[in-house]
Amino acid sequence: MSRRIAIIGAGLGGMTAAGELAHAGHKVTLFEQSPTLGGKAQVVSRNGVSLDTGPTLLTLPAVVRESFVRLGAEDLLPRFIPLTHQARYQWSDGRIFDCFEDLERTLEGAPAEAKGLRSFYAEAAAIHRAAGEPYLEAPFDGLPAFLGRVAKRGLKSMVNGLKLSTLDGLARKHFRASPQLQQFVGRFATYAGASPYQASAAFALIPHLEKQFGVHHVEGGMVALVAAMCGALTRQGVEIQLGVKARWEEGPYGLRAGRPGDEQPFDAVIVNADPLADRPLGTEQLALSGYVLLLEINRRLTLPHHFIAFGDDYVREFSELFGGEVPSDPTVYFCHPAASDPTVAPEGKSGLFAMVNAPALASPDDAAGWESRAAVLKARCLAVLKRVAPEVQPEDITVLGERTPLDLAARGAPGGSIYGFLPHGKFGPFRRPRIRSRVPGVFYAGGGTHPGGGVPLVMLSGRFAAELAIEHLGSGA
Ligand SMILES: Cc1cc2nc3c(=O)[nH]c(=O)nc-3n(C[C@H](O)[C@H](O)[C@H](O)COP(=O)(O)OP(=O)(O)OC[C@H]3O[C@@H](n4cnc5c(N)ncnc54)[C@H](O)[C@@H]3O)c2cc1C
Repeated sequence: MSRRIAIIGAGLGGMTAAGELAHAGHKVTLFEQSPTLGGKAQVVSRNGVSLDTGPTLLTLPAVVRESFVRLGAEDLLPRFIPLTHQARYQWSDGRIFDCFEDLERTLEGAPAEAKGLRSFYAEAAAIHRAAGEPYLEAPFDGLPAFLGRVAKRGLKSMVNGLKLSTLDGLARKHFRASPQLQQFVGRFATYAGASPYQASAAFALIPHLEKQFGVHHVEGGMVALVAAMCGALTRQGVEIQLGVKARWEEGPYGLRAGRPGDEQPFDAVIVNADPLADRPLGTEQLALSGYVLLLEINRRLTLPHHFIAFGDDYVREFSELFGGEVPSDPTVYFCHPAASDPTVAPEGKSGLFAMVNAPALASPDDAAGWESRAAVLKARCLAVLKRVAPEVQPEDITVLGERTPLDLAARGAPGGSIYGFLPHGKFGPFRRPRIRSRVPGVFYAGGGTHPGGGVPLVMLSGRFAAELAIEHLGSGA
C-alpha cells in the first residue's frame, strides 16, 4: 500500500532515502530549506572554472553506483575517473610521499618504509574484515546485533577488535622511525572530523578501502552526482519543495511535517538534518569543521589532483583544533580537479580548492571571530601554495569564494561541524546517534548518523533509513 513519506533535507543521504522510498511505491515529499539540492555538495563556477565547495574525493564507488542501480537510474550516473596516483603528501622540508592505488608503485617511491607499508595495509585490511564490514552491512541497532555479525567472522576478529589502539598508536607500530608516515596514517581520522590521537585504529580501514576500491573523481565534479540523483528522483515522481525549512511533530493523530504552520500528515518521516542539531550536546564535543578557499588560477597548474601539504607539528595542530583555535601551522589539502578532468577548467587555467581543518563553533561568541580567522587562514593557505607551486604569481590568483564554519552552520550543521558526532574513543563509532529515532516512524539519514559522513556512507545511510521505514510501515503502523 502506498504511504505518504516526508524527507526533511536534500543532502545526498536524504535524496537517496527519497529515491528508495518512491521506488518502493510510496508518495514522497522532499523538503529542502535552501534553494539548491545537495546539502554540503555545492559548486562555484566562473569563467569556465568549476569547483566543488564540499566533497571532492569519491571512495567506495560501488556503493554509489548501486544506489543508482536500485533506482533504475544507472544511465544517469556521471563517469567516475579512477585516480591511479591517489595523492601526493609533502612536508615543509621538501620530502614527498606519493600514494598510488597500486601498493607496489607506492613502495618504489618509499623503499625504506616498504616493510611498514606492507604490514600496515595488511592490518588495515584485517580491521576492515573484522569491524568495518559488519559495521557497514546493516543499520547499527545496538552492540549485540553488531557483535553477532562480528562473531560470524570468527572469535579472532572479536579479540582483534577489542585490542585496537588509537589510529596514531597503530601508525607508530608500523612506522616507528617515520613521523611522516605516522602523519599520513593519522590524517585519515580527519575523514570523520576526528583527531588521530583520540580516534580508534578502526579508521585505518579508510586507507585500506582507498587502496582496495580506488580513489575516484566524479567527472564534472560532485555536483554532477547531485544533478544525476535529482534526475533519478524526478523520474520516481518525488515531489521536491525547495526553500522550505520544514519541521516535524508527533501529535495525537500521528506524524505531521512540513512548513511551520502548514504541517501535513505523513506515515513516516526521514530527517536528513544532523540529529545533534535538535538535541542538547551536554558533554559531547563536535567533530571538526573546515575552512575552504576556492581559487581560479590563470595558468594550468602542474599539481597532482589531490595534494596534501603537512604542517610541521601534528600533535600541536590537533591540540589547537580541539582547544577551539585555528591551527598556527595548518596542514592544507589541495584539490586540483583539472589534473584529471578537462571539463572543469578551460585550457591554460586551473581551479584550486584548498581546505584546512577548523574547530566547530562551540558557542555563538565563536561566530564573531570568524571574519578575522578566515583572513588568517586565507593568508596561511596562500603562503603554503607559494611554497608548493612557486610558479604561481599573485596576479594569477582570483578568489572565487571562501567557506567557513558559519556557512556550514547556516545550512543546519551543528556548530558548522562537517561530521557532527565526534567518534573519539575505542567505542566512539558505536555511540553515534542511531538511524532509528525514539519516535516510531521517524528515522535519521546522513552523515550525523550511522554509518557516518562521506558521500558513499551517507547514501548507505539513506538506504538503511528507507529500509527501516519500509519495515515500520509494513508492520501495520
Ligand atoms: C568542505 C567539505 C569537504 C568534504 N570532503 C569530502 C570528500 O572529499 N569526500 C566525501 O565523501 N565527503 C566529503 N565531505 C563530507 C560530505 O560532503 C558529507 O558527509 C555529505 O555530503 C553529507 O550528506 P548528508 O546526507 O548528511 O546531508 P547534508 O549535506 O548535511 O545536507 C543536509 C541538508 O538538510 C537540509 N536541512 C537541514 N534542516 C532542514 C530543515 N529543517 N528543513 C529543510 N531542510 C533542512 C540542509 O539545508 C541540507 O541541504 C566533505 C564535506 C565538506 C563540508
